[in-house]
Amino acid sequence: MTEFSTHSDGEQTLMNLVRQLYPICRSITGNGVRETLKIAADWLPLEIHEVPTGTKVFDWYVPNEWNIRSAYIEDMAGNRIIDFKDHNLHVLNYSCPIDATVDRAELENHLYSIPEHPDWIPYRTSYYTENWGFCLTQRQRDELADSRYRVKIDSDLEPGSLTYAECLVPGESDHEILVYTHICHPSLCNDNLSGVAVVAALGKALLAQPRRRYSYRLVLGPGAIGSITWLSRNQSNLNRIAHGLVLGLLGDDAPHTYKASRSGTREIDMVASYVLKQRSSANRILSFSPYGYDERQFGSPGINLPVGRLTRSVNEGYAQYHSSADNLDIVSEDRLQESLGVVMEILDSLEENRYYRNLEPYCEPQLGRRRLYRDTGGTRIADREEAILWLLNQADGQTSLLQIAEKSSIGLHSLAAVASELVDSGLLAENIIDHGAEE
Ligand code: ZN
Repeated sequence: MTEFSTHSDGEQTLMNLVRQLYPICRSITGNGVRETLKIAADWLPLEIHEVPTGTKVFDWYVPNEWNIRSAYIEDMAGNRIIDFKDHNLHVLNYSCPIDATVDRAELENHLYSIPEHPDWIPYRTSYYTENWGFCLTQRQRDELADSRYRVKIDSDLEPGSLTYAECLVPGESDHEILVYTHICHPSLCNDNLSGVAVVAALGKALLAQPRRRYSYRLVLGPGAIGSITWLSRNQSNLNRIAHGLVLGLLGDDAPHTYKASRSGTREIDMVASYVLKQRSSANRILSFSPYGYDERQFGSPGINLPVGRLTRSVNEGYAQYHSSADNLDIVSEDRLQESLGVVMEILDSLEENRYYRNLEPYCEPQLGRRRLYRDTGGTRIADREEAILWLLNQADGQTSLLQIAEKSSIGLHSLAAVASELVDSGLLAENIIDHGAEE
């Protein structure tokens, strides 16, 4: 039996947060989610929302709230064979209560194991079909030889509420960058505690910085029903979302993967693809598909927001996915920090990706007179001067800095720095493009 501590050992590292959250039995509703958000609130201020069971959210209803105290399978001599206390994956997530003696054939209908990984416990859920069940290793299952067993699940599946949290970091503009991560998995690290840790650290980092151009809205909610609920309650404000990212699966050893928004041609798609390609040729860019995480809801046809997804492995893309082997051993501080760095670079690039207009477009302006160009002709031009020439040539008010970066092979960050010099010298003016949900 593994003993866990839910107390932090002090230092705010991403792995310490993952370790602190790992033992908690989370689900799409219930006290595990509330406890998780309470711990995350040590990193970033969270506004907690409780949405009552039965609330209609588009085509769905907020389900009954699930809470669990204990669950076990005992032989008829009273020996506990499977115990929720040993690992919270042992119970089918959202199991209804049961206290019964069943024969083995009936029990088998309620057992889940992974024959090809006989030492791993699978993660299985039954949110919307009332059922009970146990998940166990194949080895444990193979040892069940008795004809009858006692099964007990002490859970509540009753009207309550669905819990999600938001953190708004205000910027100069009320156009927002939305970040969403799911918080509904029990003791599983890469999917989904890596996402919770990166979003917590992201919130802390954004709040520590001077006010940025965009406002940032970080939402932590259960998968699928959480983003459906959030979208349903925020439908009238969706036009303020300029860009968005769904985050998750950010701690394993796979390179980074960006999955494009539904349209595939939004600014977030251009920027995230650019950042990933610049960082490593091993990083992958995927087009949108209506399967995966909450990008499915943000990319449903009636919503159609410019929201992509950043992960390392994709869902089902690593052997340990949705099993007890997705544990503390497959995520690391370095990889979580690297993922946080990738997210920050995407966000910084969105901040930097402005549109400019050349105010002296009739032939090249005289740069030497403005002290912007070398005094001696004939030498090879410096990188900065090359950036000046590209900017002045391409800044037509409709071409973004990112497009100029792609054409010129000059880094976006360098172009942004030189562009702001050219604004100061009166040669460029920013052209404000109105972002919004509508294309
Ligand atoms: Zn999952």
